[in-house]
Amino acid sequence: MPEVILLNDATYHKHPLSTRPAGGHVIASNIREAGYTCEVIDWFTVLPDFFNILKKLATKDTKVLAISTTFLAPPTSVGFNEALSEQTGLGVYKDETLDNASIDSEIIYDRNLYLWLGSEENAKNWFSKIRQILPGVTIIMGGPRTARIFKIAERKNVESAINNVDYFVVGEGDEAIIKILNKTIKGKGHFLKEIHKNGLKFIFSNRYDKPIPPIKYTTYTNAINGEWMPLEISRGCKFNCSFCNYEKNVYRKKERQTLIDELTRNYEMFGIKGYHLTCDCLNDSKEYIDIFTDALKSLYFNIEYVSYTRLDMFHKYEDMMEQLFETGFKAGWFGLETFNHDAAKAAKKGLHPERVKELMKLLKDKSVNYGGFWLSVYLVFGLPKETIKSLEDTIDWFKHNHVVDEVSVSVLDIAEFSEQLVDMTSFSDHTLNPEKYGFSELSYNPFYWKHETMDLHDAIRMKEKFKEEMKHHTSTRYGGSAMNEYGSIRTLGFTHDETVKLLKVKLGDVGSKLLDVDKNLKVNVRKQLLQLSQEKLKNYNDSLLSFK
Ligand code: SF4
Repeated sequence: MPEVILLNDATYHKHPLSTRPAGGHVIASNIREAGYTCEVIDWFTVLPDFFNILKKLATKDTKVLAISTTFLAPPTSVGFNEALSEQTGLGVYKDETLDNASIDSEIIYDRNLYLWLGSEENAKNWFSKIRQILPGVTIIMGGPRTARIFKIAERKNVESAINNVDYFVVGEGDEAIIKILNKTIKGKGHFLKEIHKNGLKFIFSNRYDKPIPPIKYTTYTNAINGEWMPLEISRGCKFNCSFCNYEKNVYRKKERQTLIDELTRNYEMFGIKGYHLTCDCLNDSKEYIDIFTDALKSLYFNIEYVSYTRLDMFHKYEDMMEQLFETGFKAGWFGLETFNHDAAKAAKKGLHPERVKELMKLLKDKSVNYGGFWLSVYLVFGLPKETIKSLEDTIDWFKHNHVVDEVSVSVLDIAEFSEQLVDMTSFSDHTLNPEKYGFSELSYNPFYWKHETMDLHDAIRMKEKFKEEMKHHTSTRYGGSAMNEYGSIRTLGFTHDETVKLLKVKLGDVGSKLLDVDKNLKVNVRKQLLQLSQEKLKNYNDSLLSFK
């Protein structure tokens, strides 16, 4: 019956299974709002009976198959290497960009071409099965990864199974997909401009400038009672950190009543009370935090949530910590980036590092009154004005402090500029104006950068050193987490405290001292968790197979 079937998954985290990504459900809700029928198949890359499920759902009315690519990381990343995933804890560390980029940037590019399929052969098989089930279907791919595919097509001719995709939508697809459906299904309407590039067809979509629409799940969503789900409350970020490629200076929020209606509907339909927020930055606006927390307080049930958040906003608005804790804030991912004050100022995150450290402590201390909090922080190694010495001091601080639950490090990335993508995606100031930020060298084949105080190789080396130094830490987990990992463990029925412990169960070398318990116990706990996760996937698979 559905005119559109939408495939949605996140391949970054499989141990345990990730929570559902928001993207596919946002687009599906929009499609329904425009008068088309649409259903979403989640976890499609790992469902044991995916092709049978597709066969069962598809009818002669099914005209479009859309694939949300946002989190479909290529399998050649560490994600499919079991041994490495063991070492990284419960989750799977995504490692698809920089650490090897200097070795062969072509490999990095090509890995993105096939997304989760990984190779030409896999892509051929997958698309041929799709074409058998849905011979005349129009295949659309959307999500941020299509911009990477565009960059590949800018460089070379693409003659492969990926040509089965009729349209790659670049940019926010909310309106573009409706226009494609109007043409494909109804055969009418003004069509968007197509850009043909070396064998692939792209539709460029302008930024969506309306308030954030709600996600409306259907009975086909088959969420289990109490499942942690994604919640999109905003897009873009009010700030403009110099290294960041996210949408900046423009930001759109979900309106208060839309939020209340969505949360209430989800609670009444599936008993949903836990969310991972998909916004780039939860608290970039105090005004919106007031609206958001007021909306949550007006609900007749309580929710819990986790989000990407900015720590220095707690310096400006100290009551904001309580405001969030009181409304269910259970875990936060904070981009601190650097403890070198000059580097922080140049990156436009200039709060003094000593105050940053105080705020982390304050956050953890205050959270005790609200049942605890998972504090995860990100650093970027290699920002302009960072030095080897300041990184050594940073590493030393983490080695001797216990306030942080987890630290993840990226090596500084500088996305390659593409004139044609300017209206669709945001580029960092580093990309737009590298000389201004002190880069004396910047190249992409192979990838390399150098500024006054460091180069790419220094940053990679220091990251390795950091990992080595954190090996035996007794409380701070090194790398590997994502918000959906917290939510996916809570979905399995574990409490916050249990989840914090489970997130620290590590079997490999790095982090083996995080919990002072017997290794066999850890192995068993880990096995049980994975088993529960697999059961959940199987139940979802079976519910779709038997869906009437
Ligand atoms: S790094 Fe974070 S706070 Fe800075 S612009 Fe990007 S999303 Fe916003």
